[in-house]
Amino acid sequence: MREKFVAGNWKMHGSLAENKLLLDGVVAGLAAVRGVKAAVCVPYPYLFQAQHSLQGTSIGWGAQNLSEHVKGAYTGEVSAGMLKDFGCRYVIVGHSERRALYGETDEVVAHKYKWAHAAGLVPILCVGESLAERESGVTEQVVARQLDAVVHAVGMAGLKGAVIAYEPVWAIGTGKTATPEQAQAVHAFIRSRLRVVDTALAEETVIQYGGSVKAANAAELFGMPDIDGGLIGGASLHADDFVAICRAAQAS
Ligand code: PEP
Repeated sequence: MREKFVAGNWKMHGSLAENKLLLDGVVAGLAAVRGVKAAVCVPYPYLFQAQHSLQGTSIGWGAQNLSEHVKGAYTGEVSAGMLKDFGCRYVIVGHSERRALYGETDEVVAHKYKWAHAAGLVPILCVGESLAERESGVTEQVVARQLDAVVHAVGMAGLKGAVIAYEPVWAIGTGKTATPEQAQAVHAFIRSRLRVVDTALAEETVIQYGGSVKAANAAELFGMPDIDGGLIGGASLHADDFVAICRAAQAS
């Protein structure tokens, strides 16, 4: 039985003062929520603050990116090992904003995944199609290509314990959510790709949905059989909203 998992992606938002209020609110709000895993993925400079606020709670923390290298002369980069130093359990890999704005190819994403996995982090691997790709009917091909690049780098066994986040690019930060049926169809497709090689892996892999999830639409999405929680951008910046989304996951 897969446990629902809700992760916040704060993106490039926050300050020490704002984060304190947000983290305190999330800790207080989630204290009574059972049976759902929750985590926040914060900007690098705030990892220490997240660690300080969340250690000893059931809420995990992580980063939104990592280097595709282990160490060396890569100015400005942050390695998987450094994230481990700050107690990170999770790292988002291949978010569509990284792919689109920073030119991360499937191969770069696969490298990042490989080092995250090797360091013992749980990669939250983002896959998803653009609007043009959906309209051309190639959603499944795009998602399959993004997954295959990672499998090529780490093998099927390297997906064990990872989280996959299906995030249609057209739904991220746009207020346009995929319908539960649209999302379920892609989630079922992803699970079926895993099932072909490893039934147990397919059944245990958590597949989150991301794209304008809010308290108002979370329950419907999370009620679908292959949707195991969400990766939450905008709504994760408000403790009440994030907690309400976690409660919806608990109830579904
Ligand atoms: C995201 O950044 O991963 C995301 C899903 O953003 P939003 O919830 O704001 O659409």
